[in-house]
Amino acid sequence: MNPFGYVQAGNDVSALSYKVQQAGSLFLAGGTCIVDLLTQGALRPPFLIDINALPLRAITLQDDNSLIIGALASNSAVAHHPSVLSGYPVLSESILAGASAQIRNAASIGGNLLQKTRCYYYRDPSFACNKRTPGSGCPAITGANRMHAIFGTSEQCIAVHPSDMAVGLSALDAAIHTESSRGKRQIAIDDFFLLPGDTPDRETILEQDELITAVEIPATPFARKSNYLKVRDRSSYAFALVSVAGAVVFEGNSVKEIRLSAGGVAHKPWRLQEAEQTLLGRALEEGVIARAMESAVAGAKTYRQNAVKVDLLKRCVRLMLHRFREMA
Ligand SMILES: Cc1cc2nc3c(=O)[nH]c(=O)nc-3n(C[C@H](O)[C@H](O)[C@H](O)COP(=O)(O)OP(=O)(O)OC[C@H]3O[C@@H](n4cnc5c(N)ncnc54)[C@H](O)[C@@H]3O)c2cc1C
Repeated sequence: MNPFGYVQAGNDVSALSYKVQQAGSLFLAGGTCIVDLLTQGALRPPFLIDINALPLRAITLQDDNSLIIGALASNSAVAHHPSVLSGYPVLSESILAGASAQIRNAASIGGNLLQKTRCYYYRDPSFACNKRTPGSGCPAITGANRMHAIFGTSEQCIAVHPSDMAVGLSALDAAIHTESSRGKRQIAIDDFFLLPGDTPDRETILEQDELITAVEIPATPFARKSNYLKVRDRSSYAFALVSVAGAVVFEGNSVKEIRLSAGGVAHKPWRLQEAEQTLLGRALEEGVIARAMESAVAGAKTYRQNAVKVDLLKRCVRLMLHRFREMA
């Protein structure tokens, strides 16, 4: 492991000023992602800024029924919070589908969003990786790529974003609140994550000196009827091969509003907007569901080992829509 400096920030102002002073430094929250990568040598920051003393743990249901979740709230606290369980089931289910109880107790919401890909080549510094070392190459494209992306890939990178929770938040139209020396901003989750393009080392639009302070979920009409479905190699403690988060509102038997987002298939939560469009205003009959399944995989590009994800995604969409049909 490389030597690095460490400091505990007492408040957001000091956290941000350390970040500006220490080039290449990283924030440390629960440490469940970053510490593995430090010990493996995949990340080599010269300095860590421990943000655990910052007052960012509150989970607050606002008067307008939107939910504000502090960036340091633990994954467990959010998943088991009464307002989340009753109003945003997909958020609770997507968090509980990930990691283990011990890890979820330590892991924060901000860290979950910024967790690093599980691509084997990224995590093992003995391999080339354009995400870790720009310009060095992407062995996954011709190598072990069963877990890799089928949408939005580039010639530089085919890694997937590993967070289950981010997929749930994508189906809820969440926004990320941030703070830096330039002020505060709110970023829609679909704009927050980037596709790899020519800069796979840049995973989000966050600037180097920007701190995530909270996640906001608007008071959406569809949040209550929402669900998360995850296909993985083991029934626990495994990352998604494919997952789907969904949320729906019916008018009679017809779909009035719907959100579908897929995980395990792209460098970011992948909104299935074409599939959503095929469902609007229609009852969930088998023919309609079949069209949505085909729309969900339109444009997929597979690699040597991951063609199975196309079929898995179609089946996940069908199962999600069957579940919704039972709720209509
Ligand atoms: C064995 C194992 C299995 C797992 N399985 C799953 C799974 O199935 N599904 C899943 O979704 N996840 C899974 N995870 C990942 C886990 O959810 C993440 O490790 C965790 O959420 C990261 O949160 P953290 O607070 O520990 O982040 P940290 O490790 O502290 O930080 C992660 C990154 O976020 C940055 N960061 C943290 N907070 C902020 C902030 N407020 N502002 C700006 N930057 C910040 C850090 O600088 C770092 O780059 C697993 C992890 C392990 C170790």
